[in-house]
Amino acid sequence: MVPAQPPQSVAPPPHALGCPKCGIGAQAATGILTCTGCGLVYALHAGARADSRVVPVPFDQRAERVKAVSNGIVLRKMALVAPEGVSEGTLDPVTGYIPIEQNGVYFGDIFTIAVWRKVDVLKLVATAILPFPLALLFVSLGITQHPVFLAFGAPFVLGTAWMTYRAFKIKVHMARVVGSTRTIEVRFDAPIWRRKKFHDEMLRRAGIAPSPIP
Ligand SMILES: [Zn+2]
Repeated sequence: MVPAQPPQSVAPPPHALGCPKCGIGAQAATGILTCTGCGLVYALHAGARADSRVVPVPFDQRAERVKAVSNGIVLRKMALVAPEGVSEGTLDPVTGYIPIEQNGVYFGDIFTIAVWRKVDVLKLVATAILPFPLALLFVSLGITQHPVFLAFGAPFVLGTAWMTYRAFKIKVHMARVVGSTRTIEVRFDAPIWRRKKFHDEMLRRAGIAPSPIP
């Protein structure tokens, strides 16, 4: 990728100013929005294409690349804040590290960035399949057979609690980046310690004022 050209006036794609879940129209704002259609709580930031006062930080090829990864059912996905823009990619299924396809939007070509969180269904399913039945088994054995089973069950009880907490409270972190020719949706919640940095750097490099994750 090469640095973005200065924005020319291009009509925004119709979904640029809309709820990322149900599509109902909204105005870009600095605060947190609540969708009048579906109730989603989200942020909708205007990028350089939508607001001439938004100026991306100057391109610097040495700027750090901030990467987040997520596991789908089959493939690993990657989200990347690079010096030139934000991109999403699918990682090769063998090593899980090399992008086999990658799509990006230049910072200068962003109409809007929407940020929201949603319940992690995949994590709930994984919890229901693995730690929860084992937790149940050991706890019931601990009550009916011998207390030592409670000790065996403890890690699974904790595992269930943690995965449920992650699925419902931390949730999946999503961003939709709308450019003039392409819209990408990225997930950026893992690794945990890079989540806020990914979000903050994405906004900063796009020239958007700092804002909390909704
Ligand atoms: Zn909505």
